[in-house]
Amino acid sequence: MMGLQPPTKIVCVGRNYVDHATELNNPVPQQPLLFIKPPSAITRLPEIRIPTEYGECHHEMELAVFIGMPLKRATPAQALKAIAGYGVGLDLTLRQIQNELKAQGQPWERAKAFDGSCVLGPMLERIECDVNRPFEIALRVNGELRQQGSSADMIFTIADLLAEISTLFTLVPGDVVLTGTPAGVAALHVGDKLELLLTNAGRQWQWHGQVEAAG
Ligand code: ZN
Repeated sequence: MMGLQPPTKIVCVGRNYVDHATELNNPVPQQPLLFIKPPSAITRLPEIRIPTEYGECHHEMELAVFIGMPLKRATPAQALKAIAGYGVGLDLTLRQIQNELKAQGQPWERAKAFDGSCVLGPMLERIECDVNRPFEIALRVNGELRQQGSSADMIFTIADLLAEISTLFTLVPGDVVLTGTPAGVAALHVGDKLELLLTNAGRQWQWHGQVEAAG
């Protein structure tokens, strides 16, 4: 596994699957909805730590794209070449807090950028993957399939997302892009056992985690 520099930021995409936008009664976006988590939000699988004092903390299972070369005002083709690898991530979301913030027109950081809110698995190097085939993600909680999605069903493709992001935020090696979540988001509970799956070109990788209370 290639060693990457620590990220300077995690850029997240909201509402990139129609079925998830619909389940939260959100409109399908005309341009990518973007937000950023700071490096202090990261924990690495198998560690998953959720706050327990702010209402429901939802899992959002996402395909993670790891950046290997600087990207600024890139074309989609340039953006694809800058990808170091792929993996899985959880965009943990304090849903009740987010709903209150949305209602007040306030930024989402309290709901999305807290310590532990970005759970990352290891990176699969790009050469291990077939980038011309879809990446499929799935999340099981206590053995039950909760979320399933394919990059083929994204509203904005990975290449288009990275190009658009790079017009606003320079991406540097180590940065991570979480590409949005499919339907099936729900609350996590302390003690839940999670399986995170990634499938590409007939190969499957699987990682595990168990939910603990944040200290
Ligand atoms: Zn998300």
